[in-house]
Amino acid sequence: MNKFIPISQPSITQKEIDFVNDAIRSGWVSSIGKYIDRFENDFAKFCGVKYAVAVSNGTVAIHLALVAINIKEGDEVIIPDFTFIATANAVLYTGATPVFADIDPVSLCIDPGSIKRKITNRTRAIMPVHLYGHPADMNAISRIASGHDLYVIEDAAEAHGAEINGLKVGGLGICGIFSFYGNKIITTGEGGMITTNDQALYERCRLLRDHAMDKNKRYWHSEKGFNYRMTNLQAALGCAQMERIDELIIKRKNIFDSYQKHLKNIPGLRLNRSHDYTKPVHWLVCMESDKFNESTRDLFMKKIKEQGVDSRPYFYPVSDMPMFRKADTPVAHEVYKKGINLPTYFDLTEAEIDFICNVIKNNLP
Ligand SMILES: *Cc1c(COP(=O)(O)O)cnc(C)c1O
Repeated sequence: MNKFIPISQPSITQKEIDFVNDAIRSGWVSSIGKYIDRFENDFAKFCGVKYAVAVSNGTVAIHLALVAINIKEGDEVIIPDFTFIATANAVLYTGATPVFADIDPVSLCIDPGSIKRKITNRTRAIMPVHLYGHPADMNAISRIASGHDLYVIEDAAEAHGAEINGLKVGGLGICGIFSFYGNKIITTGEGGMITTNDQALYERCRLLRDHAMDKNKRYWHSEKGFNYRMTNLQAALGCAQMERIDELIIKRKNIFDSYQKHLKNIPGLRLNRSHDYTKPVHWLVCMESDKFNESTRDLFMKKIKEQGVDSRPYFYPVSDMPMFRKADTPVAHEVYKKGINLPTYFDLTEAEIDFICNVIKNNLP
């Protein structure tokens, strides 16, 4: 086998092609059209929430949600130090300050104990991230939030369909946000969604998404809004993916189980771990080795790439980036060097997983 195995690729079938063709033939190519409403309805139903608002990507979904709950300059939003940069950047867009909490080494999600230590009188919201498909400890986070009168926004960009105690993510705080980038659980090319049970917040997000244009007086704008709309073409792709989402999630779980079977009993090596109150979705297979440090890990990734296997490093602690202030987050700073993500996508075959795992075993330090 000498084909290069990428880390990710979308699953596009005839259904996706048919839906997008139908949308483009209809002439409704911008942000009005039947697929937008249908995608929002399908997604809300899937998450078990009352409302969903489709937007142009996951990053603006976070920004819009923060603006809608009136986060502004001088406010602080607590986020995990171990996440994709968009979580922190969206906080910066509002003028507020992201405050970095440490993570739980098992779930890789924000540690509720660390959240408590980061609360100040400027804290307005907590934004846990369901990282790599594992839900954050929402019960503990909700208790802390209600004790301090804080909003909770779930960054569920990587966790469509993940559950805690039988409840799907996206409806466990004031709102949830999702991404439909090409490598996520489902894709619309670029795209995002805000999910909520709060009618006022829903209406506010819809208003702000569309230049804050008055519902009853066209071209009247009583505040600063945005163009954060999703197109009907993107939503058509999303509707096709929603018809297949259960299948897409099951396949990722099977891929994870397969990796687990091939890579068990290797000293110091572990794949994604989860807490029993959760049902994660396997957005990306995570592999950690106690023998990795940043340079041995990067060398390992280079070697397996030369043999046809792509991988990607764990996220760096966000607070280490030049635009943020350094944070005291020892777990995030220890974990990030030890981990990589392995190819995880619908069309990955059993034979390819077998091949990948042999390459891994032959190159581990
Ligand atoms: C992908 C992602 C986002 C941003 O989504 P985009 O659609 O790429 O803008 C936000 N947060 C996390 C944790 C992500 O993985």
